[in-house]
Amino acid sequence: MIDLRSDTAARIPSAMLANIITERLGDDGQTQEDMDDDEKVKELQQLACDITGKQDAALFPTVTMANLAAVYACAAPGEQVLVERDMHLYRFGQYFAFHPDFGRRVPIFYGLTQQGAPDVEDIGQLVERNNPSLICLENTLNFTGGVCIPPEALKEISLYAHKRSVHIHVDGARLFNASCALSIPARELCQHVNSVAICLSKGLGAPIGGVLCGEKTWIERTRKIRKLLGGTIHKAGIIAAPGIYVLQNNIERLKEDHANAQLFVKVLKAKAPSAKLVREVQTNLVLLDISQSGQTSEKFLDELALHGVLGKVRPNNSVRLAFHQCVSSSDAERAALAVADQINCW
Ligand SMILES: *Cc1c(COP(=O)(O)O)cnc(C)c1O
Repeated sequence: MIDLRSDTAARIPSAMLANIITERLGDDGQTQEDMDDDEKVKELQQLACDITGKQDAALFPTVTMANLAAVYACAAPGEQVLVERDMHLYRFGQYFAFHPDFGRRVPIFYGLTQQGAPDVEDIGQLVERNNPSLICLENTLNFTGGVCIPPEALKEISLYAHKRSVHIHVDGARLFNASCALSIPARELCQHVNSVAICLSKGLGAPIGGVLCGEKTWIERTRKIRKLLGGTIHKAGIIAAPGIYVLQNNIERLKEDHANAQLFVKVLKAKAPSAKLVREVQTNLVLLDISQSGQTSEKFLDELALHGVLGKVRPNNSVRLAFHQCVSSSDAERAALAVADQINCW
């Protein structure tokens, strides 16, 4: 099976595991912070700060929780938060942070451009009109097919935000995909925003974890919120150690996933000229538009599975294929041939 459902697919090399082995694990997330003494957690935090250019960092079990803590740290109940309808932070946040019975933060939706990136003008107008407490961005954007936010757009959004002291938080679950695709260091992509959550366990390949990075007093607040959310992990060194490994070794590797996504598209277009993409591929995610088939995405994927390829359902008759560390270039070619065969039968 060629599994293109998600870039969370795992391969844990022994060097990553070796980094876990230590004489003594410390603590992370005590109410008295001077008791936080896990060396690996401290090393991971420092590394994440160096990479994102932020002052401080906190380890979270997931990016979902890091995003939630970021929203809670910036906006009180009843306050407005700019989000995009399909971003992960809202899709899952609507059941908690933005739910009228629970978090009670008020979502205000901004639009996207034709290219699938945030509409800067729309955000500017909403900031002026609504005076929100927070702007949330996702880089790369998952639902639009791994689209990178153009660096100029980040800068322009920050000009609107900083005029009114609005915090900008980036869900950077795939920040390093953007960094690799644009050939821009992650810290430059973070320079105009206040905080960023990076995922250790998507394309980077660690077993677990996300890191929230931002200004020192703000991160201290999110650590308190993390505790209340049940996100404190004692002896967190066993999570931090593989995190350090992937930040040191696996960022550049993401380029292989991008190359495999491009190879897939090239072979697909050669074998099935009528194949349609929702938009041009920028990173490791491919969105196929299957509307000509008259099939649902579910039906299309069921059939594709019979030919040894798995993908994920997306709205509007589209299908997402994610390229990751467990997919080789020959897998990418084979997957393209399978999709092409199916398209040529329409
Ligand atoms: C996967 C994902 C998350 C959530 O990350 P977890 O660590 O699985 O909680 C958040 N945002 C985006 C864009 C994602 O793709």
